[in-house]
Amino acid sequence: SSVTTDTPLAFRQTPSSKARILAERDAILANPGFGKHFTDHMVSIDWTVEAGWHDAQVTPYGPLLLDPAASVLHYGQEIFEGMKAYRHADGSIWTFRPEANGARLQRSAKRLALPELPIDLFVESVRQLVKIDANWVPSAPETSLYLRPFMIANETFLGVRSAQKAAYYVIASPAGPYFAKGVAPVAIWVSSDYARAAKGGTGAAKCGGNYAASLLPQMEASEHGCAQVLFCDPQEGKYLEELGGMNVFLVMKDGTLVTPELSGSILEGVTRSSILQLARDRGMKVEERKVTLDEWRRGFETGDVAEAFACGTAAVVTPIGALKAKDFEVGDISAPAGKVTMSLRQELTDIQYGRLPDTHGWMTRL
Ligand code: PMP
Repeated sequence: SSVTTDTPLAFRQTPSSKARILAERDAILANPGFGKHFTDHMVSIDWTVEAGWHDAQVTPYGPLLLDPAASVLHYGQEIFEGMKAYRHADGSIWTFRPEANGARLQRSAKRLALPELPIDLFVESVRQLVKIDANWVPSAPETSLYLRPFMIANETFLGVRSAQKAAYYVIASPAGPYFAKGVAPVAIWVSSDYARAAKGGTGAAKCGGNYAASLLPQMEASEHGCAQVLFCDPQEGKYLEELGGMNVFLVMKDGTLVTPELSGSILEGVTRSSILQLARDRGMKVEERKVTLDEWRRGFETGDVAEAFACGTAAVVTPIGALKAKDFEVGDISAPAGKVTMSLRQELTDIQYGRLPDTHGWMTRL
């Protein structure tokens, strides 16, 4: 005889491990955040003085095995890059100006006494990782796969000298839209007690140590309700340099676009140079020059500075609504984002996502 129940039986499901992994990936891609989740694979290439670059590999993502005496752990010989892979409407995957990131990694390597990776090997390393982890490139608007190439000195030696052994890696992390609720102006904190760079120092290199030095002032910025910290020149503290992780631009009342010149202590952003190019293409007057903090502060008060924005790979272009320091506060983050700021942002993202033709040859198909 059959037994019937009034309530239907619930089916407990145990998916296969493969199905579980795919479901986990889909859940991450639906809400990736930033820098929290990593793809299935990584790239590594070894270097020694004797053999040069060798043993290029694509392997499952996983922990590194480092000798406790590895030089990077003691003397901070580390450099990195940050770039993105974008999925276009037809499903193809592209990256933006990878040769520029490769060239910057070489400049960073030089300053940190690390070996220079050939640019074609850099681009190929990124292509290899994106090819095998293509299903990790999200497709929702304003999402991307963030790519993190980096290099460490891993010689087992405590003597203070440039390492004779190094390793280069690439890892990747799906990234959601930077501004979940739409692009909104932010406030910036002027650091007066701390510098991130010094004359003759490593400010122009993308090395971990610069970011270590920026974390305490960044905490100070957060305590004052600011999204980012602004660093001024390390000698006089008078001229704008850059933010903790972005370059900075002002749009003057007469339409001139102004950004601090490359001082030797700021990072030459790929976004910065692309914005300069787009502005020149539009026939805008563009100035790379010394800009004082005072000029910005007064300009925000008088209206001579009509707009300000920060730019970098992660957030592309971020309007700056207010400037705060120990002894002053100007601007208003509730005012709408500037028109020039937003149209430059739109044009750049349209190129990156393939919605506008790539007239500069900036896009590389992966
Ligand atoms: N300055 C600093 C200190 C940065 O970390 C970054 C991000 N790489 C930038 C500027 C912007 O550089 P990019 O446009 O190449 O991302």
